[in-house]
Amino acid sequence: MSEERLETAAPDWSAYRGVMIVVEHRRGTAKKVSWQLLGEGRKLADKLEAPLLALVIGHQAEHLAQEAIAYGADRVYLVEAPELLDYRTRPYSEICLKVFREVKPEIVLYGATATGRDLAGAIVTHLPTGLTADCTELDVEPHPSRLLMASRPAFSEKMMATILCKQYRPQMATARAGVFQALPKAPERTGEIVRMTETFEEASIAAKVLDFIEEVSHVNLEEAEVIVAGGRGMGGLEAFAMLRELADALGGEVGATRAAVDAGWVGHERQIGQTGHTVRPKLFFAVGISGAVQHTVGMQSSDIIVSINKDPEAPIFQISHYAIVGDLFQVVPAITAEIKARRGGLSMLETAAAGGV
Ligand code: FAD
Repeated sequence: MSEERLETAAPDWSAYRGVMIVVEHRRGTAKKVSWQLLGEGRKLADKLEAPLLALVIGHQAEHLAQEAIAYGADRVYLVEAPELLDYRTRPYSEICLKVFREVKPEIVLYGATATGRDLAGAIVTHLPTGLTADCTELDVEPHPSRLLMASRPAFSEKMMATILCKQYRPQMATARAGVFQALPKAPERTGEIVRMTETFEEASIAAKVLDFIEEVSHVNLEEAEVIVAGGRGMGGLEAFAMLRELADALGGEVGATRAAVDAGWVGHERQIGQTGHTVRPKLFFAVGISGAVQHTVGMQSSDIIVSINKDPEAPIFQISHYAIVGDLFQVVPAITAEIKARRGGLSMLETAAAGGV
């Protein structure tokens, strides 16, 4: 496809209205980040007094359009074709370009997932506009500038950079999963579904999806309500069994810092932070973790943070709701035993939420 220019000189942005979320799914099952982005998009759209739009591309995907409305979209553009069952860069990016040209959203947001990054990257090569990758904060300046303020950590997470795209539309960003909150699902919510037709010559699409091999890992840190994370202070692989026991008692998952992953004590799928997962569970235990910014950027939005560290000056305490100064090898088994004896399961959450861990 030749380069496509949405705007040239003397732009008049008044034709561009609305915040559009590109809904990501795997064979009809949405990625949570899409609904999280709709939640954040709702705030931006309300501030701009503009509609919240969603784009669903797939095969037999009307249920996703309905879900998008239930999660806050005012209008959903639905493009369906058998060739669109699985994500492929070329057809998906061509559809996005066509929809953006017709609908003219002022802001487009994608999940900063492997697929979202691939798609947004492919699209931006055809548009004379910017793309801010991996955002953790989004805001807008209201009328008249209507600028998207897309913020992301920069310089090894030592500072936040807010990036503006003043010259072109749409303003585009990818945003991390787990950072923003989805609205409660409201199936009774109503909205408009606009069907757009598209036909493809399968032969013209170079990439073929032969098979899907699901990930062997069953770790789902983004969706865990309780995470018990360990750091270098654990001292070795064996000590992680102690964290597993506490996590099991609370119905949670085990996470880790990069130091623990690099030491080979746990797999990378459990790493939390800048180069790992971004999580926001209801309850997060930081055990033997110092609180480096590259780690905290991935967990600081947790509802309740309980930290256990023998160093009273450990930076992790600055972002913790409960600070336990002590030897983790004594504290963790004591907490686990107490939970097992008194309550067990998620009732710990209720106690913590009420202010009494
Ligand atoms: P440490 O900083 O060594 O802290 C160990 C803590 O354990 C100390 O506070 C100590 O007091 C405590 N401790 C020791 N023994 C005990 C005990 N018996 N009882 C109680 N407390 C004890 N890190 C991440 O986690 N995630 C990332 O995604 C990530 N990405 C990075 C990306 C880049 C580009 C860079 C440069 C770094 C990244 N890092 C990341 C690494 C990060 O900078 C830190 O080095 C790392 O988070 C430190 O891990 P830690 O807290 O486990 O170890």
